[in-house]
Amino acid sequence: MRAVVIREHGGLDTLRLDETPSPAPGRGEALVRVRAVALNNLDVWARSGPPGGRPIFPWGRMRLPMITGVDVAGVVEQLGSDVRTATVGQRVVVNPILSCGTCEWCVSGEQSMCAEYHIFGEHTPGGMAEYAVVPEQNLHVLPEHVPFERAAAVPACYTTAWRMLMTVARLRAGEDLLVVGASGGVGTAALVIGKFAGARMLAIVGDEGKGAKAAALGAISINRKEHPQFSERVRAFTGAGVHVVADPVGAATWPESIRSLRPGGRMTICGATGGERPDIDIREIYQRHRQILGAPMGNVSDFRTVMDLVIRGALTPVIHAVLPLREIREAHRMFESREHFGKIVLVP
Ligand SMILES: [Zn+2]
Repeated sequence: MRAVVIREHGGLDTLRLDETPSPAPGRGEALVRVRAVALNNLDVWARSGPPGGRPIFPWGRMRLPMITGVDVAGVVEQLGSDVRTATVGQRVVVNPILSCGTCEWCVSGEQSMCAEYHIFGEHTPGGMAEYAVVPEQNLHVLPEHVPFERAAAVPACYTTAWRMLMTVARLRAGEDLLVVGASGGVGTAALVIGKFAGARMLAIVGDEGKGAKAAALGAISINRKEHPQFSERVRAFTGAGVHVVADPVGAATWPESIRSLRPGGRMTICGATGGERPDIDIREIYQRHRQILGAPMGNVSDFRTVMDLVIRGALTPVIHAVLPLREIREAHRMFESREHFGKIVLVP
C-alpha cells in the first residue's frame, strides 16, 4: 500500500508517499481501507521533531519510522480472528482512544485518565495510508449520508472541544464564551460547539480573513495582532468578562485568557502549542474565584456524543481543505504556515 512513512525528523522534503506492506488484522481487529484522514499537530511534530526539542508526549516518545494519522474514516476491508460485530463493507469512523479497559478509570468510563491511555495514530500506526488496522471496539459505524471527509474532521479536535466546553466547563446557554486560537482545529470545534450550546461567542484570531470566518460561525472576532491585550476588548464587549474561556494555546495567551474571565469564570485547557510555562500572578486566579480545568482529549462518551451529533446533522465540522494524500507536503505547509481555518483532510 502507499503510505506517508515518517522515517526521520526534517522539513517538508522528507514527506513522500512510500510503498510499504499492508498491515494484517490480528485478533479482534479489522483492516480499514482509509477514505479520509485529517491532519493534526502531532502529524507535523512527528515530521519536524517536537517544538523546541521538548518532549510533547508525557506518556511516551514517538518511535520512528511511523505512519501517523489519528482521525480516520473508511470502509472495513478484512477481519481478523474473533471479530464479533464489525462486518466487511461497513462504513466506519475510528474512535482513537486506546486504554487498558480494566483499571478504575476505564471501568468508570474515563479512559483518558488511564495510566495506559494512548491514541490511535499517535502511539500505534495510523491512517496516513491506504489501509490501517483498528481494534474492533474502536470502530464507530458511519451512515451512508455522512461523507468520509466530514467524519474524519471530527475525532481528535471535536472530542477534545466537547470535553472542554460541555463535560468539564459545563457551558450553558446564554453564557459568554471566549475561544482563543479560534482558527485551529480545536478552536473552530469550540466555536461550532459553543454555537450549538447557545453561548455568545468571542474569538481571538490572527488576521481579518480568519476574523470574517469566525464571524460567519457566529462569533465576535478580535484580532490579537491589533489587540495583544485582548482581555480589554473582551471586557468592552461583556462588562465583567466571560463565563468560559477555551484556551488550546498555552503560555502565549494564558495571562490574557485568565484576565478575560469574570469572577468565578472557568478556563478550560487542552494543549500547550504556544508554550507550557505561563508568566501569571496566581492571585489573579484565586482572588477572583477563577477556575482552570484540564481536558486533554476526552473519553469514549465524549467521542460518541460529538460524533452522533455530527451524524445527526446537529454539528457540522469546519473543513479548510480536502487534498489527495499525495499532496501531503502541501497539507503540512498549509498547517505550519497557520493559513488554515478548520481541519485539513487528506484522501488516499
Ligand atoms: Zn485503564
